[in-house]
Amino acid sequence: MTVDFFSHYTMTIDGKAADADKSIDAINPATEEVIASVPDASRDQLDSAVAAAKRAYPAWSARPVEERQALVSAIGDRIAEYAEDFKRLLIREQGKARAGAEWEIGGSIIWCHEIAKQRLDPEIVEQSDGRQVEVRKTPLGVVGGITPWNFPVLLAIWKIAPALLAGNTMVLKPSPYTPLCTLKLGEILRDVLPAGVLNVVSGGNDLGAWMTSHPDIRKISFTGSTVTGRKIMESASGNLKRITLELGGNDAAIVLPDVDVEAVAKELFWASFQNSAQFCVAAKRLYVHRDIYDQLSKALVDYATTVVVGDGSQQGTDLGPIQNKMQFEKLKDLLADARSSGLRFLLGGDIPDGKGYFVPITLIDNPPEDSRVVVEEAFGPVLPLLKFDDVDDVIRRANDSEYGLAGSVWSKDVAAARKIAERMETGTVWINEIHSFSPHIAFGGHKQSGIGIENALDGLSEYTNSQTIVVRDELNRTVPA
Ligand code: NAD
Repeated sequence: MTVDFFSHYTMTIDGKAADADKSIDAINPATEEVIASVPDASRDQLDSAVAAAKRAYPAWSARPVEERQALVSAIGDRIAEYAEDFKRLLIREQGKARAGAEWEIGGSIIWCHEIAKQRLDPEIVEQSDGRQVEVRKTPLGVVGGITPWNFPVLLAIWKIAPALLAGNTMVLKPSPYTPLCTLKLGEILRDVLPAGVLNVVSGGNDLGAWMTSHPDIRKISFTGSTVTGRKIMESASGNLKRITLELGGNDAAIVLPDVDVEAVAKELFWASFQNSAQFCVAAKRLYVHRDIYDQLSKALVDYATTVVVGDGSQQGTDLGPIQNKMQFEKLKDLLADARSSGLRFLLGGDIPDGKGYFVPITLIDNPPEDSRVVVEEAFGPVLPLLKFDDVDDVIRRANDSEYGLAGSVWSKDVAAARKIAERMETGTVWINEIHSFSPHIAFGGHKQSGIGIENALDGLSEYTNSQTIVVRDELNRTVPA
């Protein structure tokens, strides 16, 4: 099978290519050039996709789990076959640099292969003379997947692999800003999966809203902003859809005074700026103990000046542009606010002239705790460095957020760091490392960073209902109370 990744983008509905009357342009954020146009699905086309998924569901859910495991693993094999095309297209449409594309596509393959090893077997929870109580996990039906633009392939796989493995069928919608890799994923899987098992539709935010209110979709698995998450929760209430929401974050990194400053500076830099800080779990507020604040600030500035920001397709680029104009404008506004509020920039802050949505690496010196750069999720390379003296105070400040996605603590004293970690109101806390994800480690946000879990058996079970079967083997037997 030969697929041209760089032209002709079609949706996948019922195992076949589908175009649409209207289209949306895809833009390379490094050059602002239109690189492709993609179908803008109509409501009827969404209905067709959902109907196809519904038709495919009985046979798919009835297949032995081993067969579904093999097919989920085969998705990984197929991505691996086209890995280089995916990486090049991902760099073009998302803007990320080569290393980021390697991480995302490599991770997508690993996720398929590892999730394919998981299964949720029935559990006998009670067994007594002539009576047995069994709890089994049954699929839900048609699942809607809605993904954002920062990791379009990996975050789609985080949904596709467990949803299909559990026996559901799916309609998947990528962000209108990054539809290309996802549409090609649908295309290369047409001869891997039975028709209708995975439908990929593209369109704007309206298409997402039609999905969340669709009566034949039983669950929405969503990754994106908290604002959209709230809308989804509301609209999913129509037929009491199950929801998994992976939302925004404003993660704190807490750096204790005993760290090796030079060594930790580099780690903290990437903790904050990987994927140009368009990362839900980027360290977005850096709390540094007063004793090392000046030294660490300087080490961060020194390291940051060695990092190359540019077009991800060029060799030597470490970080790419902001993915889209909407986010670029948000960051410009945030920087203008920081300037007009008199905040001190240790580095960056000025948007360069020229093409591309480039925002320089920006470090802000100890801004007030209620300034916008501290309170808001920047979702771009603008990082506030904040001084602290006292552990209780820094924990209070770290937790003083509507978000609760993740956080990190950095110290040679692991016991002290762990005590801090236990008091953080976040779904994940890393100590002396960051951003270690695995298909077998549960991930999810506290507070307004989300509802539910992705990955691990907890994540898999979110694509199922529990069914309890109580069996008495003889009708006229007296069952002990
Ligand atoms: P977004 O909420 O704007 O869009 C995400 C998706 O939702 C897109 O596909 C979009 O078309 C769709 N959408 C928009 N309005 C909708 C509606 N009313 N109903 C249904 N769907 C709708 O988010 P984004 O800007 O693409 O992504 C950035 C956000 O995602 C950040 O806040 C980031 O922290 C978060 N994020 C979270 C995680 C996580 O795992 N927690 C991972 C990555 C990104």
